[in-house]
Amino acid sequence: MIIMKEFNNNRYIVTAALPYANGPIHIGHLAGVYLPADIFVRFLRRKKKDVIFICGSDEHGAPISIQAKKEKTTPNKIVNKYHYMIKNCFIDFKIIFDNYSRTSSKIHHKISSNFFKKLYDNKKIFEKESYQFYDKKYSQFLADRYIMGICPICRNKYAYGDQCENCGSTLSPEDLVNPKSTISKNPIYLKKTKNWYLPFNKYQDFLKEWILVKNKINWKKNVYRQSKSWLDNGLKERAITRDLDWGIPIPIYNENKKVLYVWFEAPIGYISSTIEWAHKKNVDWKNYWKNNNTKLIQFIGKDNIVFHSIIFPAILKAYNKNYILPHKIFSNEFLKLENKKISTSKKWAVWAHEYIQDFPNKQDSLRYVLISNMPEKKDNNFNWKNFQRKNNTELVATLGNFINRSIVLVNKYNKGIIPSPGLFSFNDKYVLEKIKKCPIHIENLLKSFKFKESIDIFMDLSKVGNKYITEEEPWKNNKKKIRLNTIIYVSMQIVAMLAQLSELFIPDTSNKMLKILRLKLLFWNQIKNRFNIICPGHLLGKKKLLFNKIKNKEIEYQLNKLK
Ligand SMILES: [Zn+2]
Repeated sequence: MIIMKEFNNNRYIVTAALPYANGPIHIGHLAGVYLPADIFVRFLRRKKKDVIFICGSDEHGAPISIQAKKEKTTPNKIVNKYHYMIKNCFIDFKIIFDNYSRTSSKIHHKISSNFFKKLYDNKKIFEKESYQFYDKKYSQFLADRYIMGICPICRNKYAYGDQCENCGSTLSPEDLVNPKSTISKNPIYLKKTKNWYLPFNKYQDFLKEWILVKNKINWKKNVYRQSKSWLDNGLKERAITRDLDWGIPIPIYNENKKVLYVWFEAPIGYISSTIEWAHKKNVDWKNYWKNNNTKLIQFIGKDNIVFHSIIFPAILKAYNKNYILPHKIFSNEFLKLENKKISTSKKWAVWAHEYIQDFPNKQDSLRYVLISNMPEKKDNNFNWKNFQRKNNTELVATLGNFINRSIVLVNKYNKGIIPSPGLFSFNDKYVLEKIKKCPIHIENLLKSFKFKESIDIFMDLSKVGNKYITEEEPWKNNKKKIRLNTIIYVSMQIVAMLAQLSELFIPDTSNKMLKILRLKLLFWNQIKNRFNIICPGHLLGKKKLLFNKIKNKEIEYQLNKLK
């Protein structure tokens, strides 16, 4: 097990990938990026670390510009719609950032322009002319994805300029027979243009040392492997500007319609979002981004690995202003839906905002299922039947049932007051030991970024509780009062520990449980290695239902919706 080194560090920047504001977010985004980031940040806060959780919408680039042209609207209207929709979804799912910014903000434009300007002034970038495919009708240069034609290898009519999805060949637009624009469907032309390039090959040695030597053991295997494969192929120069009318104009006089390439400016969004936060809080952002004692932990999607492990660090290195580099880049594999790849364009997804409409106040059910199915080591699958089963058997029949049984016992036999225990039996001691060990197990797993296993440890504790009550049979008449009190005391210690631990995974439920128990949320060191979290004499609050069963017809509705 790789436990994160130097965990005693006290300052962290945790970033979550900037969602692209051309559509809503779905369960794949939540399971892949935002839930692991959220759990990790919650854990750091409970450990009393100085942590800022940074994100924002990524609002530039050709896809948004093209979508606007197709829908005869403006890019601004599109990004406004999705920025607020996405932002609200995060709030609904209790993924609370310290700052959720947007790359169309003034501050981001300013910071990104400064990056470009300094690279330009210091001759770290160069200009070069080239011929690129152009769509006359839409007056737009086309990225490879927007070019379609016949695959020269398998004759598939719908091969893209970068890849044929039928035979899997990697292609260039020049390879296609009869290449056409996917936007206007018209034939395309080569047109001369000029762009600015960053010579990434100049940073090859630096990145090799940094990734292959320094970070080899620290990074997740998928991140390491992809980065290494890029380095093995040799880094090349890449354009950092685009011919587009939507984006951050390059700060060079007389260069119209040239903007910064999204993958140049979007990662700078982590920095500008932090600066925006620091201005609001009146703190110095440099204490985070330019302080070698800060650990930068980035949670991203698998399709964005090299942009974070190679492109962004190379830009920071070229800019050379003492920015820290990512300490850890975390990426999950993909989540499938009903065994098929989630696809925004094919509308094969469960959208977060629609889930909330269909299952109001059941955010924790989805959080729970997504965390316990998290695609950590391999692609994993979400299916609605399994969602229903996990909700009904694990949340309702195990966790909810155990808590309910325990509280009923306190109310029935001790007027809602936690009783003093007598002597502990062998079984009591075994259970109390389990409670003590739980936060230690979870801590070790979270330090090695194992979220799925950590929620299993949590759920196992409620299974231990259910089993304990069933074995001890407190409702049997022949129990002496002192023995009954001891059983109730032990069960309530499990309940109290579950209330404390659940905050990491299912925060709404944790909140409800803490209210029922009339307890405050404790810091991690206050629950670590302890079993006596709720004291004898403590009076409970009002009982409340924690989970509801999900009915067959609700699941059928969702399955029909997919069709
Ligand atoms: Zn093909």
